[in-house]
Amino acid sequence: MVIVMDHNATEEQIQTVMQRLEAAGYRAHLSRGVERTIIGAIGDETQLGDAGIEMLPGVANVIPIMHPYKLASRIMREEGTVITIGDVEIGGETVQVMAGPCAVESKEQLFEVAEKIRASGARILRGGAYKPRTSPYSFQGLAEKGLQLLAEAREKYGLLIVTEVMDPRTLPLVAEYADIIQIGTRNMQNFYLLREVGRYQKPVLLKRGLSATIEEWLMAAEYILSEGNPNVILCERGIRTFETYTRNTLDLSAVPVIKHFSHLPVIVDPSHGIGKFRFVPPMAVAAVAAGADGVMLEVHPNPVEALCDGAQSLTPKKFAKTMRQMAGVARAIGRKM
Ligand code: PEP
Ligand code: MN
Repeated sequence: MVIVMDHNATEEQIQTVMQRLEAAGYRAHLSRGVERTIIGAIGDETQLGDAGIEMLPGVANVIPIMHPYKLASRIMREEGTVITIGDVEIGGETVQVMAGPCAVESKEQLFEVAEKIRASGARILRGGAYKPRTSPYSFQGLAEKGLQLLAEAREKYGLLIVTEVMDPRTLPLVAEYADIIQIGTRNMQNFYLLREVGRYQKPVLLKRGLSATIEEWLMAAEYILSEGNPNVILCERGIRTFETYTRNTLDLSAVPVIKHFSHLPVIVDPSHGIGKFRFVPPMAVAAVAAGADGVMLEVHPNPVEALCDGAQSLTPKKFAKTMRQMAGVARAIGRKM
């Protein structure tokens, strides 16, 4: 449940509510907004009951939560979350672009992409060092060497880096290098991994599971938030449907729906959503129009030779054109790019 305090509730009244919730077995999460102070009670309401909170002085309203997610909900936080990393804001006025190869393959490949995406205006470089491949015989990524190359590219080109963690055992290493830790679609419900990244303060990019409903996705975010990491960015990347022409079906409707129910920033990855480079640019532009806070795009200097996901990768030239188109739409809807 969510407890809304009176405008003039005293500090003592707030503390009494917090203590009573904790004594009843809840974890109490205090949120002091400009307009009002809100306390989120985290715990199973069906087991723990209402703890008599409604009768306490200073309490304006007790809202039972219809949704199973609490910290991810807009009820807990009316204004959208803005995640600031250096001079880059995600969830603010500016639409951010994360671009780069599916996998880090070599210094030459990564640096060429990094230079070109930066020149086109992107601020965040993506690239997998640990790749979740369907076949164990496919290229699995360069592991720590890949992380080192990403870090070098960050220094040289003034970019932030986002890269995937697949295993809690490599999390300390990935967290040491990454500015944003990516949780891939296949791990969206790896609850142990979610809890582990929740213990860091590094921003986490949480991709939607292949067959996850919006509610299941927000519950996965809840795992991270409830461990104390408030810096979660959601990423729509296509879901499995009966359609086989495209790799997945990019659910752009998830963007306004998430924006309605949650305060978390949401970005869109049309590359994995569609799987065919030809159709990626129009959907990237549509993602901006739908209100996404960012777009993730796979870019490779020579897609034909890519070790991973070449078919969906844009050349730097196609990427530059897509950037111009996205910027035009961003301006038209009152945002920057
Ligand atoms: C990726 O972004 O590199 C990736 C593997 O994406 P997804 O988890 O969405 O398949
Ligand atoms: Mn990929």
